[in-house]
Amino acid sequence: MSEEKIPYEQSDLYRIRHSAAHVMAEAVLEHFPEAKLAIGPPIADGFYYDFDLGQDENGKPKTFSPEDLEQIEATMKKLLKKNAKFEQSSKTVAEAQEFFADAPYKLELIAELAAGKVDENGNPISEPVTEVGIYQHRNFVDLCRGPHVGFTKQVKANAVKILRSSGAYWRGDENREQLQRIYGTAWHNRVELDEYLKRLEEAKKRDHRKLGKELDLFSAAPEVGGGLILWHPKGGLVRHLAEEFCKNEHLANGYDLVYTPHIGRSTLWETSGHLTWYRDDMYAAIQIDEEEYFLKPMNCPFHIMIYKEKMHSYRDLPLRMAEWGTVYRYERSGVLHGLMRVRGFTQDDAHLFCRQDQMPEEIDRALNFCLHILRSFGMDKFHAYLSTRDEKKSAGDAERWEAPTEALRAALERAGLDYDIDEGGAAFYGPKIDLKMIDALGREWQLSTIQFDFNLPERFDMTYIGQDGEAHRPYMIHRALLGSMERFMGVLIEHYAGAFPLWLAPVQVVMVPITDRHIPYAEKVAEELRAAGLRVDVDVSSERMNKKIRNAQLQKIPYMLVVGDKEEENDTVAVRTRNNENRGAVPLADFLAQAATLITTKALEL
Ligand SMILES: [Zn+2]
Ligand SMILES: [Zn+2]
Repeated sequence: MSEEKIPYEQSDLYRIRHSAAHVMAEAVLEHFPEAKLAIGPPIADGFYYDFDLGQDENGKPKTFSPEDLEQIEATMKKLLKKNAKFEQSSKTVAEAQEFFADAPYKLELIAELAAGKVDENGNPISEPVTEVGIYQHRNFVDLCRGPHVGFTKQVKANAVKILRSSGAYWRGDENREQLQRIYGTAWHNRVELDEYLKRLEEAKKRDHRKLGKELDLFSAAPEVGGGLILWHPKGGLVRHLAEEFCKNEHLANGYDLVYTPHIGRSTLWETSGHLTWYRDDMYAAIQIDEEEYFLKPMNCPFHIMIYKEKMHSYRDLPLRMAEWGTVYRYERSGVLHGLMRVRGFTQDDAHLFCRQDQMPEEIDRALNFCLHILRSFGMDKFHAYLSTRDEKKSAGDAERWEAPTEALRAALERAGLDYDIDEGGAAFYGPKIDLKMIDALGREWQLSTIQFDFNLPERFDMTYIGQDGEAHRPYMIHRALLGSMERFMGVLIEHYAGAFPLWLAPVQVVMVPITDRHIPYAEKVAEELRAAGLRVDVDVSSERMNKKIRNAQLQKIPYMLVVGDKEEENDTVAVRTRNNENRGAVPLADFLAQAATLITTKALEL
């Protein structure tokens, strides 16, 4: 099921977008001749370029106005049509330094290229260069390794659009210069561009930060700190329902649930190696008495300590230890994003400990369990990635990697999943599977990981006594299915545009009495529904019926039950849905029975 695909970097679209970035920078220089160029790479669905426009009279960085962007786009289109050839050449480091003498950001990049640190786009490289790449069209010259299209005309002026501008720190470092970034998009043709803009519009409507506010699900208060999430009652309820379901499934599938602390002694993190290779992602030490403690960035060392509390025989394995463990990892403030990039989050984390002969079955079980859980949330399109051994990072270990890598590959095949192999993409400690969910808009979201670890069992000297009476090392597998609850909730909100399936909806039914006279009957029905386990509100506001229905629909509440004289007389409810369906009067008992079925089957439809 693995298929060969052209990497984005080698695709037409990559060349089109990179070329569009150059022409956009050319257009910016026409309007702002004093602008200094930083970097301008293609990105997923588009490109950007960063500029330093200098400072205004108050010493603040100058920015682009919406009118500026309109003019730049118009100029850019004109320049694309006025055909010019992209010419490639190279310069020695010294020549390039002389040529770019007035371009401070380019000079910094040249110095780092020469030192073997980063490439022209600011990405890490492994070896110093003696010659740097140059691309020129007309008078526009850039430090660049390409690739580009042959001529500017190959970027269709009607398939290009400037989207927005925003501030961006040079090299993503908030202590460095603040630059102005212009984002644009470019496609093969007008139709593709229009489709993309439509998707963008739809994505904006589904933005979990916007919906989180409108539906009163969560917030992040500056007083609390960036990337630290406050779950409001409704969001908290959805999360609770998701966790409750998952925990019960774990228990039913041979997992043990454990709880471990939020901090641990520095010696623990020394043994685990986190203080050596993960220190930059951890927060500063906490002094307690004479000892240093650290907030946990991962749960693994604690689970290993539970394992090590007693001797294990081969008969005890496999062990599956699960925890909804809240971890804290440093993220730069500039990259924090709603629920997707946060500083504190709860993983649905588990560690599997098993013998070699149990490994293939454990991997199969983990992957199938993962798919079962995700499908229960209505997610049914996936794309998997298998990351294999990097010879440089794990020299001499080839044999040890073979069986686990094969187990992962075989499990993907047996599950019938579409997957790509990320050759050499594994961490130094073991191969892994990443599973991405493809959402309603076709976007991929990284959720699940199943990751082998050859390192921690060694560092903690984990053993079990085999059938031969000797001590053996168990296999250790980290796995998270939803990944982080915060991120998963963000994905869920965007996937459903806030209209959760009935079983997850924080409020499932709103009673809509037609007049105040009908409130007692509405309350009585609400009580009956609540007694049957439904989450029900009664709208006793003085709004008119249509407004009440509209309000409930905006809150994405699945059902509105309208009640008036007729309904009261016949013991019925008039059913309306958030999709604006009017199902007319239904006996209350029928509505209840139908709702109960939809909830137990986790149905997506109402
Ligand atoms: Zn370039
Ligand atoms: Zn782990």
